[in-house]
Amino acid sequence: MRLVLLGAPGSGKGTQAELLKAELGVPHISTGDLLRAAVKAGTPLGLRAKAVMEAGQLVSDEIVLGMLEERLAQPDAAAGFILDGYPRNVAQCEALEGLLARIGQPLEVAIKLDVPTELIVDRIAGRAAKEGRKDDTPETVRERLRVYTEQTEPVAGHFAAIGKLTNVDGVGELAEVSRRILAALPRSGAPA
Ligand code: AMP
Repeated sequence: MRLVLLGAPGSGKGTQAELLKAELGVPHISTGDLLRAAVKAGTPLGLRAKAVMEAGQLVSDEIVLGMLEERLAQPDAAAGFILDGYPRNVAQCEALEGLLARIGQPLEVAIKLDVPTELIVDRIAGRAAKEGRKDDTPETVRERLRVYTEQTEPVAGHFAAIGKLTNVDGVGELAEVSRRILAALPRSGAPA
């Protein structure tokens, strides 16, 4: 299965990807996690990305694409992937299409998790208390939501235009949302 999960920050993409990866037998690839690992390891790329992430803005398309390309070249991604946090703008949609065509792994479906904004704000506050992410402060969260509305929302329109978008209600018990996502997937994960 080659799947992109879309949705606002705090919509549950990462949590759902973790729940679904075993079920689907494919890795969960989160560009946010890859970037946080690079920041933690203090790599040159991580050093460049750190301030941008803490400001709630988007790291350069070029950096993220390079990182994603490297990750998709790992053997476990040969079976497919659940992509979380990418693409984040329309340019990244086009870059993803090009990359997946090059590696002969075309996308099957993009699932967008729909969660109302009031709930998003509550969920991020809950996560901030639990995980202590540096970009979950109220000010940065506001900026991330602004960037989402301005740059990432059009991504859903891009996938809708190519007939690959399915919307899923992201409100409810975790297991119930997982079931909705599984029900929305193309059958058997056969190549598109
Ligand atoms: P996330 O864990 O997906 O919420 O991402 C955390 C932060 O990492 C974002 O606010 C961005 O600064 C950065 N980031 C993650 N994915 C991308 C991406 N595809 N393009 C640019 N920046 C990204």
